Amino acid sequence: MTTAEAAPLRLRIQIRGAVQGVGFRPFVYRLASEIGVPGWVINSSAGVVIEVEGAPGALEQFLLRVGRDCPPRAIVQGLEAAYLEPLGFSGFEIRESADGEKTALVLPDIATCAECLADLFDAGNRRHRYPFTNCTNCGPRFSIIEALPYDRPKTTMAGFVMCDACQREYQEPRDRRFHAQPNACPACGPHVELWDSGGGRLAAREEAMGCAEAHIARGAIVAVKGLGGFHLIVDGRNDQAVRRLRLAKGREEKPFALMFPTLASVVEACEVGDREARLLTSPEAPIVLLRRRAENRSAGVAGSVAPGNPYLGVMLPYTPLHHVLLADLGFPVVATSGNRSDEPICTDQREAIERLRGLADVFLVHDRPIARHVDDSIVRVAAGRDLVLRRARGYAPLPVSLGSQFPPVLGVGAHLKNSVALSVGANVFVSQHIGDLETVEAFGAFERVIESLERMYESKPTVVACDAHPDYLSSAYARRRGAPTRIVQHHLAHVLSCMAENEVGPPALGISWDGTGYGLDGTIWGGEFFSVGVGSAARVATFRPFPLPGGDRAVREPRRTAMALLHEVFGDDAWAMDDLATVSAFSEPERRIVRTMIERGLNTPLTSSVGRLFDAVASMAGLRQHVRYEGQAAMELEFALEGVNTGDCYPLDLVEARPPESRNAGPGSGPAESPVSVIQWSPLIRALVADLRGGCSVGVMSARFHNGLVEAAVGFARRAALERVILSGGCFQNRYLLERTIARLRAEGFRPVWHQRIPPNDGGISLGQVAAVAWNLA
Ligand SMILES: [Zn+2]
Ligand SMILES: [Zn+2]
Ligand SMILES: [Zn+2]
Repeated sequence: MTTAEAAPLRLRIQIRGAVQGVGFRPFVYRLASEIGVPGWVINSSAGVVIEVEGAPGALEQFLLRVGRDCPPRAIVQGLEAAYLEPLGFSGFEIRESADGEKTALVLPDIATCAECLADLFDAGNRRHRYPFTNCTNCGPRFSIIEALPYDRPKTTMAGFVMCDACQREYQEPRDRRFHAQPNACPACGPHVELWDSGGGRLAAREEAMGCAEAHIARGAIVAVKGLGGFHLIVDGRNDQAVRRLRLAKGREEKPFALMFPTLASVVEACEVGDREARLLTSPEAPIVLLRRRAENRSAGVAGSVAPGNPYLGVMLPYTPLHHVLLADLGFPVVATSGNRSDEPICTDQREAIERLRGLADVFLVHDRPIARHVDDSIVRVAAGRDLVLRRARGYAPLPVSLGSQFPPVLGVGAHLKNSVALSVGANVFVSQHIGDLETVEAFGAFERVIESLERMYESKPTVVACDAHPDYLSSAYARRRGAPTRIVQHHLAHVLSCMAENEVGPPALGISWDGTGYGLDGTIWGGEFFSVGVGSAARVATFRPFPLPGGDRAVREPRRTAMALLHEVFGDDAWAMDDLATVSAFSEPERRIVRTMIERGLNTPLTSSVGRLFDAVASMAGLRQHVRYEGQAAMELEFALEGVNTGDCYPLDLVEARPPESRNAGPGSGPAESPVSVIQWSPLIRALVADLRGGCSVGVMSARFHNGLVEAAVGFARRAALERVILSGGCFQNRYLLERTIARLRAEGFRPVWHQRIPPNDGGISLGQVAAVAWNLA
């Protein structure tokens, strides 16, 4: 589906790098004039900031060309773009440089630049094949910085003394390694070694690279210490090797990311648009979700890399070490985080030997310490914009500005996909992805990230904001801190994170749909609508709660949720509907148990979660009764509608409440008690069962379900009559749901707002928590 986007927008681009004094601003002026987009450009302490306004197509063209066609001496080390609401510029101006507040920004790690790449593969260069080649324009930053200001003694390069040649480069203002803090060469810098699984040295330097490559080519699992931690690498074409990795990691079906040798090799396997190509080759170099070529679905990639998935997570080499490895191998490799499931990525080689014991066959390690773990970021292109799904390398810890100063606040995030956020002045520094706080190791990483953010920015939070869930480790941590705590309801935090990154203020309608979050009425929320005003926010609508037999167990078994919904709609008859995949998926004894749980409410919480509705529909459609990873059933339901083109939708009835009062959503005031409108799903379930019995295709049922949800959102937006509609929560990672909701809201005259730089999933919660305190909503 396409989103017909005609209304003008404002595009803000922040460019970091060697862009000052090289004719960059005149170039921007000429480009803007040529494309015909008014706006301004300014040099600031943080780099060059550009704002232009115009039709989406013109802005897209501007964005693609500003990085590609810039003056030869300009080097872009980072580019962040965000679409915002237009202000009505006329003409284009080069503004006076502003040297206001000089916040010492800790910069993200930067992928290897073109010149270093040329050095790397030049047989005559003294850095030929040297895995730690870097310069002022590229290389490690966040992953080696231990304290500010950013100088070599305060990085993990402190222990390496530069040789004379490197020292000369470092001191020569005309050299591109002038003041390159991690500057190194084979004579003075870090080196690789290959270790066996007990930590014994097998080979060093060039020989170690060759041995590691031979192991990969033979189908071994090689742990590779990279930039922000270890990867586990196997030959991406070798099904047996990938299966072995799955078994060792205990990861049954969740897709693995791939690193391809070149952009051309990616294009052979996947559909790569301009925007996706830009992301792959950008200084941020994230994992990009790409649609596999339909005609070439199995070409060159083992079936077990991403079973049943029409997308692949793909990245290109982003350090010299990876460039050398991939150039030598010449084929795609699986490059997955070096950890056991749910643990943070390993960063230290001795620790890796312990923690990855039995997982990797050999270890390619090096002696440059990693100051902090930084995972690969994940981005997809949706609704014509970037949508960051995991924010880590290349993006963290760049801040989101809330516009005005407020006292320092720490947001400790949610339980899954945790990140934390710390405010300094008006800026909120959102940490790199930490992960699920399920293990001692993960909680340790969480504490270290907070400690390091506070030390780096010399900021002690006066308020700590946390989730309402009393049992979350992050909430317990917040209570232990001693500073006053504020509780921010999970789904409100989602909405506020989206408003913050889009610089959108109240009033707005916030739609927050996800898997599960702690509600304020003792139930599990996940299908919520908020009216956000100045200093107040109220839950104004929700989905009718339904039982979740077995709680977490129901999350792993979509058939349980589906059974509960069938029971709610059809009563006793539901248990005899053996023609339905859901019902026949239960044995007789299982039916008795689940039925008793539902009827007596034993270990059966209530939920209004849209994510669980996705699960239930996937179960009823016969797609999946048990999930192997979070979100699997919902993703498969999304994939099922590929190629289906219908506007039909299942009915969802809105049962209106009395006009909602404006009430604070904070814990004390409890929006749960305010009257909320309820979206009734019974008609949807009845229509779905009729379709199942009528032999309707899974794709059409999936489309009708998605479209039904979209119409429910649009229908309530009409009642709420607030122009701005915020779309947040993990469900809006679903591209079809996101794009169709945007299109339908626009068609009805609303202004939809969605995520770009901050994840719609729980990775964004920490920012929303800080915003809630800053905006007096907690
Ligand atoms: Zn470089
Ligand atoms: Zn040197
Ligand atoms: Zn959530």
